[in-house]
Amino acid sequence: MKTKLHIVAVLFGLLPGPPTASADPPPIGIAIHGGAGALTRKNMGSIKEKAYRKKLEESLMAGYRILKSGGSSLDAVQRAIVILEDSPYFNAGKGAVFNLEGKNELDASVMSGKTLQAGAVAGIQHIKNPIQLARLVMEKSKHVMLYGKGAEEFAKRFKIPMVPNTYFHTPERWRQHQELKNRTSAGRPYRFVFGTVGAVALDRNGNLAAGTSTGGLTNKEYGRIGDSPIIGAGTYANNQTCAVSATGHGEYFIRWTVAHDISALMEYKGMTLPEATHLVVMEKLKAVGGEGGVIAIDKNAGVSMVFNSEGMFRATVRPDGSPDIKIYRDE
Ligand code: ASP
Repeated sequence: MKTKLHIVAVLFGLLPGPPTASADPPPIGIAIHGGAGALTRKNMGSIKEKAYRKKLEESLMAGYRILKSGGSSLDAVQRAIVILEDSPYFNAGKGAVFNLEGKNELDASVMSGKTLQAGAVAGIQHIKNPIQLARLVMEKSKHVMLYGKGAEEFAKRFKIPMVPNTYFHTPERWRQHQELKNRTSAGRPYRFVFGTVGAVALDRNGNLAAGTSTGGLTNKEYGRIGDSPIIGAGTYANNQTCAVSATGHGEYFIRWTVAHDISALMEYKGMTLPEATHLVVMEKLKAVGGEGGVIAIDKNAGVSMVFNSEGMFRATVRPDGSPDIKIYRDE
């Protein structure tokens, strides 16, 4: 039996009352990107634009459904990325860009904000979904990063799909490879369209995760590794701060340790996520010509999608559960 005093104390908010059935569940959230760069309405065309938006929505909502049903942020991130890797539209998995030798070399990484465990692969030529291998490196090896042949040997211990290098080829990427070769030999400038993919998520248990997957930069040197598989550069997650996935000119993202810098600004300077992403992408990177952007989510499911290029394929889920899909700067 509760005393009158107890009831009065509850009424005045001095003691907690009984839990109400309508107590909100902990927040969840997800954001994805499909690369940044010279993305204008003119460059895209309306048919292509529709197809990209559709694929982004499919990836986003597949990840969101996992979170909604109580699944982990790592599973949501991986699922969303696999869908984009399997699509020929993006520079990851099928549809990855060619290196200077006319081959595809893929990089990917994933990180858990709960444990700070991370897995990464680089220079992959025969794994259908590099993000899947990055997750295996994180969970089944003692290491953080494996590259090239060693990574693919490791993959053989698990039943994950392996493909010939030609699986990744698309006519559009071959055209870009040739065009850039011609432009370079003619000394003409080339504007990058980055098409790396990434996802960040927060699950019901308050765990953040981030992942990124890419074919790198068109006509990169054989053996070049970008920021996407570098923990702290292209990918970072920490439950205390945020989860980040980047896209852009990787060399800058490595040297400015972009993903970790955003987290560190929150941790050490007490910045909010929008403040930290803005400072790093719109001020620090922009000042030195580091083109690109990031998607990030904080522990309260606040999302930032910031870029200093003309556009960035990006998407998140609104609080009412509907998809919010954007490409251009003015959206
Ligand atoms: N950041 C990637 C790299 O430099 C490229 C991209 O974002 O599309 O490898």
